[in-house]
Amino acid sequence: MTHDAIILGGGAAGLMCAAVAGQRGRRVLVIEHAPEVGRKILISGGGRCNFTNIATAPDRYISANRHFAKSALGRYTAADFIALVDSHNIAWHEKTLGQLFCDGSARQIVAMLLDECAKGGVEIVTGDPVRAVEHGDGAYRVTVGERIVSAPALVIATGGPSIPKMGATGFAYDLARQFGLKIVEPRPALVPLTLGEDETLFRELSGVSTQVVAAAGKAQFREAALFTHRGLSGPAILQISSYWRHGEPVSIDFLPERAPGWLREAKRGAPRTTMRRAMGLPDRLAETLAERIGLSGELANHADRVLDEAERRLADWRFTPTGTEGFAKAEVTIGGISTAELSSRTMAAARVPGLYAIGEAVDVTGWLGGYNFQWAWASGWAAGQAI
Ligand SMILES: Cc1cc2nc3c(=O)[nH]c(=O)nc-3n(C[C@H](O)[C@H](O)[C@H](O)COP(=O)(O)OP(=O)(O)OC[C@H]3O[C@@H](n4cnc5c(N)ncnc54)[C@H](O)[C@@H]3O)c2cc1C
Repeated sequence: MTHDAIILGGGAAGLMCAAVAGQRGRRVLVIEHAPEVGRKILISGGGRCNFTNIATAPDRYISANRHFAKSALGRYTAADFIALVDSHNIAWHEKTLGQLFCDGSARQIVAMLLDECAKGGVEIVTGDPVRAVEHGDGAYRVTVGERIVSAPALVIATGGPSIPKMGATGFAYDLARQFGLKIVEPRPALVPLTLGEDETLFRELSGVSTQVVAAAGKAQFREAALFTHRGLSGPAILQISSYWRHGEPVSIDFLPERAPGWLREAKRGAPRTTMRRAMGLPDRLAETLAERIGLSGELANHADRVLDEAERRLADWRFTPTGTEGFAKAEVTIGGISTAELSSRTMAAARVPGLYAIGEAVDVTGWLGGYNFQWAWASGWAAGQAI
């Protein structure tokens, strides 16, 4: 055997796993097909990497088995990662909703992971695709470039297919299938939603942003929504996209702060106010919504029951997206290697000795806001302890 463990993919999960195993004395090789490691880390959080969330909890993850992530998230927490970041003197700040970002640059996170790998004597090869993976006699043999390497443990850390431009592939699924592991159907998540011709209302508003509650099924998120020329984006929409299924409606509450009966009250307090002004929304949005509802002129001109109906529509504006902007624009992939195949403690495949899967390749997907990196660190750490 040339190594104790071979890790395929030098992203967030793969580098964390390599550093942990290397520092435990394992001879570790990381194979990354892109010219450099950690590309998604570099572009994440607008270049500042939202590296974790202090509100990390298993109920903020989507998976066919909602209990699966508990063990790893419980053993390597946001506080553990913050301690690592602090030990490298990387300055950070909380932006909103528990989201932690570097003050400087995402490059600092990649440099930190590389430094931790170096401490563990990890070997990293970049820029060469994996040509073949074979398994027999207790060894995994990987052909990379002209070289054949071998180890008793192989870790699949090649992520999901979101943003192929960045080097993302479905390689994890091909490999999993090669070893007979089941896949939960992958679909784009944390992705803008697209709208059809009948929703031109929204397209006219391209560039406008407002605080909403977006809901699909039982999920709802109170954050900003942004109108785009293709449909809707912004944190509230990205979050709800992970729960939305084709053909289902999405509901938007444009005025989540208002108590029931606010329009009647507004009419009583200032009868000459227009509907547009009463809403207190960005001008273009208020105008378009008032037009759609058909309420023009002063509030005093409208019966209370008409105002009640307007209030109801503004609180539950329903539309059915035509789709999403797909893997090209999706921040993450929902689905992936089935958790039913893996140990939640070690990420080892139950039926294939020595095979592990971590990070986004696995059917565990977090909310927007640092949760996905925390899963990458936690699952990488769990496997790093086991290999
Ligand atoms: C634009 C964008 C912004 C994001 N911002 C955030 C954020 O701020 N906070 C957050 O928590 N999450 C964020 N995410 C999500 C986060 O980047 C991922 O969840 C995380 O990177 C997953 O880690 P991973 O190691 O599993 O996969 P990756 O980081 O994608 O790493 C997989 C690696 O495997 C390599 N690879 C692929 N195929 C092969 C192959 N055949 N052979 C060898 N190597 C291969 C890839 O090049 C890649 O380097 C963002 C995602 C995107 C796209």
